[in-house]
Amino acid sequence: MNTRTTAIGLILGLGALVDVALSQPPFPGPPGGRRPFAAGQIDATVPQRSVAEDRKAQHGLIANADLELASTNKKLPAGFEADGDFIYSYLGNAVTDRTGWGVRYPSHRDVDGDGAHRGRLSYTVRNLKSDDGRWFRFSVRGLAQEGFSSSAKQLFLKVEFFAADGRNALDSVSQNLYGTIEQIRRDVPSGDTGTLAAVIWRSHAMEFRTPFTEIDTLKLSVGFSDGDGTLERSEFMVDEIDLQRIPDPAEYVAAASAKPGSRSVPPALSKLTPLGGRWYYDPQGKKSAPPKQFDRTNADRLYYLTERLETPFADNMTAWLRRGYVDVDGKQVEQDRFVPDNVLITFSNTHLIIRSHNLPNHPTAVFPDVARAMDGNPNVIREQKQMYYLPLAPQVNPRHQALTGIENRYVMNPGPIGIAVNGVVFFDPYDADAVPAFWRLDRCCGHPSPRSQYHYHKYPVCVKTPWSDDGQHHSPLIGFAFDGFPVYGPYESAGVMAKDATENPLNEFNLHTDEARGPHYHVTPGKFPHIIGGYWGTVDPQNVRRGPGMRP
Ligand SMILES: [Zn+2]
Ligand SMILES: [Zn+2]
Repeated sequence: MNTRTTAIGLILGLGALVDVALSQPPFPGPPGGRRPFAAGQIDATVPQRSVAEDRKAQHGLIANADLELASTNKKLPAGFEADGDFIYSYLGNAVTDRTGWGVRYPSHRDVDGDGAHRGRLSYTVRNLKSDDGRWFRFSVRGLAQEGFSSSAKQLFLKVEFFAADGRNALDSVSQNLYGTIEQIRRDVPSGDTGTLAAVIWRSHAMEFRTPFTEIDTLKLSVGFSDGDGTLERSEFMVDEIDLQRIPDPAEYVAAASAKPGSRSVPPALSKLTPLGGRWYYDPQGKKSAPPKQFDRTNADRLYYLTERLETPFADNMTAWLRRGYVDVDGKQVEQDRFVPDNVLITFSNTHLIIRSHNLPNHPTAVFPDVARAMDGNPNVIREQKQMYYLPLAPQVNPRHQALTGIENRYVMNPGPIGIAVNGVVFFDPYDADAVPAFWRLDRCCGHPSPRSQYHYHKYPVCVKTPWSDDGQHHSPLIGFAFDGFPVYGPYESAGVMAKDATENPLNEFNLHTDEARGPHYHVTPGKFPHIIGGYWGTVDPQNVRRGPGMRP
């Protein structure tokens, strides 16, 4: 808001930015009793301020973040686009309120006549450079009228990531605001009384980190779906959209510096003890036999051979049982508890055997998601007791079938299909109700299943990779499918994701073969099937037996 607007707000004593709605029934239209505007129309009775007089504030990275009328054609300011049910107009009563122009989402009317009650406003920010920082705060200032309603509780902020100037889609993050709206209605933080006391302007923000260095374009959206408002005052209004760079959050910096970098000088292969398959043990010059078990004390001596030696389990063996999770005995956890043996590894002649409590070693959202920060997932994260068998010599299955979509989901078993090196399981791209899994990726990479098993449906960016995968060479190993074939991060070579590779491209299983790694899967951010597209090899039946925790 510019100074003039604020000054008038103060003179009128309305707190125009905060609670115009308190002063009178909101938005009855300008004096003269006109009804609210039709689709795409604007309120032409409001005197327009000249662009010169009303210099548009540049908020962070969005030009004209306050959505003021920028031209006489009464269209959205440059850079913004909207679709579905929306109205761009002056917000409020022109005589008494100084609010400005904005976008209104009517939850009770099908403005565009497409049969659905949904709408969204978007803005695309281009030419970003990761060197300038990768953390952002996306915020909108909005007001939900007392009749605004969505049957599926969907009012969201969404950020879509792109590389190559918008041509290469690389996933998205989103946050649901509906829970906040419901909370405001319940708690009435304005402290006022009366039917409109909860109808106040609020800033809603989400912070996120771009997951890949090559992201140069962000598409920011605010919108709703499943509108089922019944009253006339059933709109959600937005009068400002903002994007700011923010410094790396302290908890992120701490986590990043706590991770030791990859060892600069790996030992010579000739000094290592073979364990089977691509696995080696570093006896550190002694003649000792390999340990019976690998855990947090020796995981840095367990090597996986590609064209380099990796230590995939180092720093991934421990986790925290967080307050609010449920432990393996079904008890609610009251206090954070360190779990030193979240992942344990042993070897047989034929298998790497992984025991896991399936606790994520990274932040998660709060589950059950009663605040509806995401999709309202009703499940809790529960500690598991699981054991999986990864063949040291994976066998190609000559009858393998690729996953093409929900229609042949049966080519893999329901529930876990593989496991990440931090002991958390992979699922296929769909949730139990057969819809593509919906979740946010900023600081939590997964969510719990109806059996309370935390899991990933796509690239778990929190598993080591944000700290060590800078996209400068082939990504490190991040886990295994239950056929024993390895799963790697997204990169094939410097700056080239495997999903985009034209030389040695991935097949429909998300797999390709090279000399150093043999057949291996890659995760494909923003692209189906995201992790693996079916089992290339024969699944060890011990991994897909039915029982508690084995189904989605
Ligand atoms: Zn899921
Ligand atoms: Zn590869």
